[in-house]
Amino acid sequence: MQRNFSKLSSGGKFDVLIIGGGITGAWAAYDAARRGLHVALVEKSDWASGTSSASSKMIHGGLRYLATYEFSLVKHSLGERALLARLAPHLIQPVRFALPIYKTDDVTRLQMKAGLTMYDWLATRKSPAPKHEYLTRKQYRKRYPYIRQEGLVGGFTYGDCQEDDARMTVEIVWGADFTGATCVNHCRATELLREGEKVVGAQLRDELTGEETKVHARTVVNAAGPWCESLLPSGGKSRLTRLVKGVHLMMPSLPLQDHGYADGMLITNPDDGRVVFLIPWYGYTILGTTDSDYDGSPDALGVTTDEEDYLLDIANKALAQVPGVQHWQRKDICGSYAGVRTLENVEGKSASKVSREWALTEPLPNMLMPIGGKYTTAREDASFIVDKVVSKLAIEAPPCTTAKRPFPWAPLVGGVAGYKAWEAQAVKDVINAGVEAVIAKTVVKRQGNQLPILLDLIAQDPSLAERVDPAAPFIKAEAKKAKLYEMAVTDEDIYRRRMPLWLLSGDHRD
Ligand SMILES: Cc1cc2nc3c(=O)[nH]c(=O)nc-3n(C[C@H](O)[C@H](O)[C@H](O)COP(=O)(O)OP(=O)(O)OC[C@H]3O[C@@H](n4cnc5c(N)ncnc54)[C@H](O)[C@@H]3O)c2cc1C
Repeated sequence: MQRNFSKLSSGGKFDVLIIGGGITGAWAAYDAARRGLHVALVEKSDWASGTSSASSKMIHGGLRYLATYEFSLVKHSLGERALLARLAPHLIQPVRFALPIYKTDDVTRLQMKAGLTMYDWLATRKSPAPKHEYLTRKQYRKRYPYIRQEGLVGGFTYGDCQEDDARMTVEIVWGADFTGATCVNHCRATELLREGEKVVGAQLRDELTGEETKVHARTVVNAAGPWCESLLPSGGKSRLTRLVKGVHLMMPSLPLQDHGYADGMLITNPDDGRVVFLIPWYGYTILGTTDSDYDGSPDALGVTTDEEDYLLDIANKALAQVPGVQHWQRKDICGSYAGVRTLENVEGKSASKVSREWALTEPLPNMLMPIGGKYTTAREDASFIVDKVVSKLAIEAPPCTTAKRPFPWAPLVGGVAGYKAWEAQAVKDVINAGVEAVIAKTVVKRQGNQLPILLDLIAQDPSLAERVDPAAPFIKAEAKKAKLYEMAVTDEDIYRRRMPLWLLSGDHRD
């Protein structure tokens, strides 16, 4: 995948110009290219540099949306969770969440049981995640010694899945590029081109050189996420959307034992009823998220000390003081990040009460603008966008195929058993090439079928098998490959998104 700004001006008139290289734009570009459309995808910064690298990294149904009776959203998300886990076994893995019950809880054991039974039922039989189970106090204590024990009466576990979000976006962009789309990062749409009311393209600027070009397209998709309204004539003042901010902290790992699954935890804050997660990720623990209305610019996002204290306080109340878990303080935060989701603006409703349902709008003739959504459902949302593009173009085009096709970097090995055998051999190859055994599986999963490229780089220079930083499971060959083959231009592209080193190393905080 090579960056080539001039391909945008030499590409003639595109069928569709997609503005915004988060997961929504990426899937839309990949899907449209697979249907034979002439596609351009532009991103003002780097792939997944917006919300798509600031998520909770979960591929999930959204257990908490059962509490707001959003059953169809949950069912739909669980269906996509199963599909994505099948299409991308290298990228998506199950996590088992602890849901402890205390004497003081408002929600009863029966209510929890009902919710979790519903969650498993909505997930159908093909669920990639473990089903819920109940454990007695003694069993719970044994499995989760790091969970607060006072008042514990037992608890549940339930299953979901997780991913590396920025890695997923770059893989899908790579798929779009490979299928013929012109994909250019560090390329900003500065203005929409109009013929009368109709949107017919955009003025684009290469953010690396300052070069400008006009690109004409039969349809335009504004997938700019939290920035989408800034492209409208009102300059962002029309308030079709509202922004909701979420903050995550990267904390040390919990003293987990291997019970066959990565273990996370769901905590309800007794003070305000808000739910936060502890999620294992690359040997660390993601603690998040907050959920608050945000009025500022998406470019000025940051994590405040109040937000840090809020999350640390919830976690400290939920965790036991056992060896390996100290009372977390600000100095223990290894990294942090903030993101904003875009929701349809509903006056008078708080952030957590507004529906997370996705919507496709057309605020200007010939320009589609998705609002809201989730990583988990972005593939299917994109298929609706491309259906609409095809109908606007009034052309014959095949239907969406992304539900049937393994991810671009998925090893084509046939089913779960085939994948496991492939992974076992790939881990051996990586260790033989000189990579530390303890991080070999992580390297393999991050690369999928791209692994031979990585092994070639190491064969040319064996020092590339070393870790980039002792604090994180990434190797130097991955950084080199990111630059050569994954369109990473800046250090931030490489060390924040192609590999999330800056999130883990404690050197860079939002
Ligand atoms: C805190 C938080 C946690 C979340 N956790 C989860 C989760 O665990 N699981 C899940 O399924 N979903 C989750 N989500 C939702 C999910 O992350 C989002 O739905 C998804 O990332 C949105 O992607 P997007 O492509 O629409 O927007 P974005 O990722 O924001 O992409 C928009 C892109 O457009 C670019 N852009 C903007 N203006 C221009 C311009 N003028 N020219 C060119 N490019 C431009 C931006 O740089 C940006 O990269 C979470 C969301 C938040 C906020």
